[in-house]
Amino acid sequence: MKTLIKNAYIVSPDVEIEGASLLMEDGRILSVIGAGEATPDADEVIDAGGRLVMPGFFDIHCHGADGNDVCDNSLEAIRHIARRKLQEGVTTWLPTTLTQPQDKLEEIAGKCAQYMANPEFCRAPGLHVEGPFINKKNAGAQNPEFVRPPDFGELKRIHDIAPALIVSLAPDIEGANEVIRKGAEIGITSSAAHTSSTAAQIFEAKKAGLKHLTHFCNAMTPVHHREIGVVGAGLIDDSLKLELICDKIHLCPDMLKLVFKLVPIERLLMITDSMAASWIGQGEVDLGGLAVIVKDGKAVLKEGGALAGSALLYNEGLKNVVELTGLPLHQIVKATSWNQAQSLGLQGFGKLEPGFFADIVILNNDFSVWKTLVGGEVR
Ligand SMILES: [Zn+2]
Repeated sequence: MKTLIKNAYIVSPDVEIEGASLLMEDGRILSVIGAGEATPDADEVIDAGGRLVMPGFFDIHCHGADGNDVCDNSLEAIRHIARRKLQEGVTTWLPTTLTQPQDKLEEIAGKCAQYMANPEFCRAPGLHVEGPFINKKNAGAQNPEFVRPPDFGELKRIHDIAPALIVSLAPDIEGANEVIRKGAEIGITSSAAHTSSTAAQIFEAKKAGLKHLTHFCNAMTPVHHREIGVVGAGLIDDSLKLELICDKIHLCPDMLKLVFKLVPIERLLMITDSMAASWIGQGEVDLGGLAVIVKDGKAVLKEGGALAGSALLYNEGLKNVVELTGLPLHQIVKATSWNQAQSLGLQGFGKLEPGFFADIVILNNDFSVWKTLVGGEVR
């Protein structure tokens, strides 16, 4: 069956085409047709009415949505989150775990594997394991009670249940670089998180295989003019990729402008880091055993007031970046899925070109989501 999207304003890395059409078959993109060219026949036609048509978003860091958390350890919770993510325009998601006991993490990986075997909503090619190998001093909203020393065996046991595509860990903790090195050998991307590392420790970890910095600027050492910290390392390094929570809370508007100005777009990975607080407006939710209060789009620990993940919707983050940076969409779109797929070595994601998956988000002018397609199907 062939499906055509017509009257599309297509945005793909380095490409913007007005009045275009896009033909899909068997879950893949067959062709992109420019304005004025003859539109091919199709079994089904979606008239985008001039709306933005972009590669579906790839959220590599998201714990939950709408009162549900991956660590609720329930297939129903994971399905609910995946359905909500789809409504944010996310077509690929890495269910992200919290610092939890090993037996619980293995059970959760089992639930995620069940969803991965039959992903009815957005795709979920693997896990993002955040913690437990972090620095207690930088635990933020990770439960310090379950922080443990780096142990590759533990990570491998989770990975054997559901592929861990990313592990977030603290390179300043002894043994972390060994986990980074062994992880890289089996395709696990390491990301520095919840850490007191110096810049030098980050560059050491990079030699072991470190590739990302998790929720850049949050729960890591800031720039100081005699020790540039993890943040400084992220700014001056030429290949580390930076996860950004673009909610204007975890990074204030000026910091977002600064990062997009200083760092080549190819190194930026827009994430939500959303948890159960997203979609609910306000109230109280649980985060790995810690009580979280949600108010005015901000989620904070009831005790101590630390920021506790975000309530951000992916499409809202995109809107913020467009408004703050003024960068063209064909540049920003690299940071919503293409860079993520490249960094994780996944083929077929992040571009609207022949052969790529027909994973597509269609956005209204105000960046609200009109439709999301996974494998050419509206879901
Ligand atoms: Zn975190």
